[in-house]
Amino acid sequence: MTSVVRPYPGSRWSRSLRSAIAVGVLLVSSAWAQDRPSGMRLRTLQPGVHLISGYANGNMLVVETDSGLVLVDAQSAKRVEAADTVLRTVTQARVRYVVFTHYHEDHTGGMVHWRKSGAQAVAHRAVPAQMEKDTIIVEMGNWHRERAIPEAFPDHTFEDSVTIRSAGVEAHLYHVAAAHTDGDVVVWFPGENVLHVGDLIEPEGALFIDWWAGGTLDGIIAATEWLLARTDDATTIVPGHGRTIDRATVEYHHRMLIHLRDRVMASLSRSEPRDVLLAAKPAAEYEAFLGGETGADRVIRLLHYGLSRRPR
Ligand SMILES: [Zn+2]
Repeated sequence: MTSVVRPYPGSRWSRSLRSAIAVGVLLVSSAWAQDRPSGMRLRTLQPGVHLISGYANGNMLVVETDSGLVLVDAQSAKRVEAADTVLRTVTQARVRYVVFTHYHEDHTGGMVHWRKSGAQAVAHRAVPAQMEKDTIIVEMGNWHRERAIPEAFPDHTFEDSVTIRSAGVEAHLYHVAAAHTDGDVVVWFPGENVLHVGDLIEPEGALFIDWWAGGTLDGIIAATEWLLARTDDATTIVPGHGRTIDRATVEYHHRMLIHLRDRVMASLSRSEPRDVLLAAKPAAEYEAFLGGETGADRVIRLLHYGLSRRPR
């Protein structure tokens, strides 16, 4: 098998905690990584647009408007007060809306905090059903998906797209496909040329598809193509975790997804044992983007798990 791939240009993001956690057949992604004390930090991307994040935690985007703040993702319940403390170093404005990119707790749990001061949450219509679930995912090392507490649930849901307008700032919310989960939302701020893509892309981390919540590889590929069609070289793209990226990195991500899908599917069509596939290190050339050798192996296990169960 031959392929032409540009070397990944990105710099490493600290992922040692994620890499260190190995459970069962598959390995957990940062959404479930055990937290530990660390500094929550704020970075101003442009006037009125800030990114708040902490070690191995999600990227909360803050956009200021004259009638309040629009947040993309709420942070986890555990980390939200630290995020709010950092936020208050740049603005005292109230939070009007919190958009959820998907149901995972590290993106939604903090809503309990924002709601206390009157914020409302907006999410795809599939999100409440996922937040309701109390299940144990054996294949993920007995990952216990606990039901979210009522105050974290969204106030508003939508099917395909919706626009939030707040004092001249527009946030366009799109559900492109069932991808990382069945309720993914990408959030586009056209006036600012900033796009939050949730966990569709995780630079320097292991790509995760929540097959147990309707996620699909084909959906992530479709969503990535959607991103490529709507961004330009100046667009600031905010992933759910890690550093901000540009369109060239989305292109790289897209090529990687196609290659990995094709390699896993070819192995399945030959009815190879999974160990043969893993031994061939089919994601070796992407290790720098996938969180090292451990992350690359994890992604192949995850893809093999999902694709081997897909109707063919
Ligand atoms: Zn996630």
